[in-house]
Amino acid sequence: MTAAERYPAAAVQAPELSPAAGEDRTVGRVVELASGLLMLLDEHGITRRLPLDARAQAGRLRHAVKLAVQTITAAPSSRPPAPASPDRAGELRAWIAAQPWATDSGPVGWVYLLCFRDPATGQHRPLRGNGAGGQFAGHYWGWADDLVRRIEREHRNSNWKGPGRLVQVALRAGLTFELAWLEYPATRGRERRMKSKI
Ligand SMILES: [Zn+2]
Repeated sequence: MTAAERYPAAAVQAPELSPAAGEDRTVGRVVELASGLLMLLDEHGITRRLPLDARAQAGRLRHAVKLAVQTITAAPSSRPPAPASPDRAGELRAWIAAQPWATDSGPVGWVYLLCFRDPATGQHRPLRGNGAGGQFAGHYWGWADDLVRRIEREHRNSNWKGPGRLVQVALRAGLTFELAWLEYPATRGRERRMKSKI
C-alpha cells in the first residue's frame, strides 16, 4: 500500500491558485485541500450518504470554496502566470462547472424534501387526494432561504395561507412530515429539476 492509497486526499492536488502574497497563499492552499476533499467525497459517492447536518456543512464548504476560487481568480495581480499542472486545473474547473450551485443563477438557499408520514408508526404514508383521480402525494419539494423559519413558522402552521398548501392539507388529514432530503447551496432552478425527476 502506497502513501497515496493510505491518504487519498493527499493524492489530489488542486491547481496552484495562490498568488505570491503569504496570506493569499495560505487561503489558496486551504481552498485546494477543501476542494480536493469535496471531489473525493463525490467521487466515492460519500456526499449523498452523509447525515443531513454533515451534508449541509459540506454544502457550506462547497459554497465557500466557490467564492474563494472566484475571488482568487478575479484578482488580476494574484492570478498565477500559468497553472502548475494544467490537468489538475482542468479537473477542478470541470468539477466546479458540474456543481449545481455553479451552473444555476438566482438566489441561493435550501432545496428540501418533506416526506409525509403516519404519526403513529413513523412510516411513509402518502396523502390520498379526494378528487376522482385518486391522486397520491407522498412528498413535497420546496426551496427556502431560511429553512428553519419555512418549516416551523409556515409548514407547521395550520393557519398558513401562503405557498405550500399541500403540506397543510396533509397535516389536516392527520399526517405528519419529516425532512427527508436537503441540499445547500441550491437555487429555485435546482428545486424545479429535482421536482421533475420524481
Ligand atoms: Zn417518503
